[in-house]
Amino acid sequence: MSYFNNRKPTSEHVYAETVIWQCSSCNCWSREEFVLANEPNCPVCNSKMNRETKNIRVE
Ligand SMILES: [Zn+2]
Repeated sequence: MSYFNNRKPTSEHVYAETVIWQCSSCNCWSREEFVLANEPNCPVCNSKMNRETKNIRVE
């Protein structure tokens, strides 16, 4: 495991461009793979959600 011992900060995380549904009215969003509807409404405020890509933490 010596190749992991390179003094990188432990707070370093992996981010990836991911397709999400973003609410048009509030900050609520959900990863597309967890949304079954074709045109979902926000679970918080029931507004329309827009399909976007977002750089989110995956690890
Ligand atoms: Zn909302």
